[in-house]
Parts: sequence; C-alpha cells; structure tokens
Amino acid sequence: MTGSEDGAIALTRVGERIASCALCPRLVRWRREVADAPPARHAGERYWARPVPGFGDPRARICVLGLATAAHGGNRTGRAFTGNPTGDWVVRALHRAGLANQPTSRHRGDGLRLEGAWAGSVVRCAPPGNRPTPVERDTCLAHLSEEVAALAELRVLVALGGFAWDAVARWAGARPKPRFGHGVEHRLDSGLVLLGGYHPSRQNTNTGVLTEAMLDAVLARAVDIAWPRRAGVTGVRLAGPG
Ligand code: SF4
Repeated sequence: MTGSEDGAIALTRVGERIASCALCPRLVRWRREVADAPPARHAGERYWARPVPGFGDPRARICVLGLATAAHGGNRTGRAFTGNPTGDWVVRALHRAGLANQPTSRHRGDGLRLEGAWAGSVVRCAPPGNRPTPVERDTCLAHLSEEVAALAELRVLVALGGFAWDAVARWAGARPKPRFGHGVEHRLDSGLVLLGGYHPSRQNTNTGVLTEAMLDAVLARAVDIAWPRRAGVTGVRLAGPG
C-alpha cells in the first residue's frame, strides 16, 4: 500500500468520524432546524444536516479553510464549498490555479476533483448567524488536527477570513498571535505556512473588498510555497502534485 493510499484511508475514517460528530448541542440542533425550514429556492430538497468533513486530494499540499459550513451550502449538499455563492468563488479560483478539474461545485456527484488541494472549514457544522462560539470553534479544531495529520504532504494552510486565521493560529499555538491580512504569511512551528486571504462572502465580493484577481494572487502564492520548483508558473493546470 502506498503512502497516499494510507492517507486516503485515514482521511476517509476521519471524514466518517466528523460526519457523525455531535459534540456541540447548539449546532446539532441548528443544522437540523435549517434543514427542516429551507428557503423557497431549496424547498423539497433533502439536506445533509450533519457535520461536513473536508474533501480533496489525499496528497494535498494546500489546505483551504473557511469559517464554518454554510447553512444552505455544505449543510445542504454535504460537501464543503458546494452549492452556494461562496463555494462558487472558491472553486472557480481553485480551477484557475490548476487545483480543481472544473470551475463549478454544485453537488457531491458533480465530478469535482481537487488536485494537490484539500478544502474545508474550521467549524464543520453550520452555526446560527454564521457565528460559532469560542467553545464550538475549539471543540471542532480537534477535527482539523486529525485531517492535517492524515495529509502527509501538506505545506500551506490558506485561511479565508480572520475567523479561520485566528482559529488556525490558536490550533497551532502561534505566539504572539499573528495578525490576519490578505496575503499575509506566517510560518507555524510545525513548518506549515499559514496564508491569509479575505473570505469570499457576498459582503466582500459584492463590495469589491475581495476581487477574483485578489483571490487568485493568494492561491498563486500558496502554489509557489507548496511547489517551490514551480514558482512563477502558477495559473497552469497541474498534472498532479510532485
Ligand atoms: S462543530 Fe465540529 S465539534 Fe461541534 S458538533 Fe459539529 S463537527 Fe462536532
């Protein structure tokens, strides 16, 4: 069995543990309540209504992390960055960076594959108001530990938004706490690089706080860190990590 097969098996097991987690009572209730009262655009759809594990390439060198599972995105479709506008932004950018085989992310059976990348959120359940409590955040960071441990080739953690940045810094024990910014880098004691980017929320994308070019620049930097020999050739579809 190869290392990547070991990693794939480990990630499958981690994903199963995450999907059955019920450690946060408030979020267990909320993910179900959202599913039971969907907006008209999703009326009649069967929601996942469980925690959403990360997904992607077991040989990922780049892990892209958002804040939390989206109520009508991942909580509906069962896959991170899938089925909502934020997911569209992220997956289009991953595709432009050569890290995804297609620019769309609609549902779990849509054929999307990530290449050299892993994607998820620091809080795996949808929280009310998109605001997890500090206790919920810290409880869920144990799942990040498990995923990172199974991603043997990981080099870069891309935190989309200040919440994800602070959560990863806390998880890694970074002292003093590094300050979040778009394009800011911080090397963690483990050797992993934490790279910040503005979150592609509607609030940021509709106001021009975050443009597609800005997100592309962050992912291009992540690719350069992850594959240093390929620095300067980003934007070209990768044949696969190597
Ligand atoms: S937020 Fe994380 S720790 Fe809390 S119930 Fe969901 S998966 Fe479990």
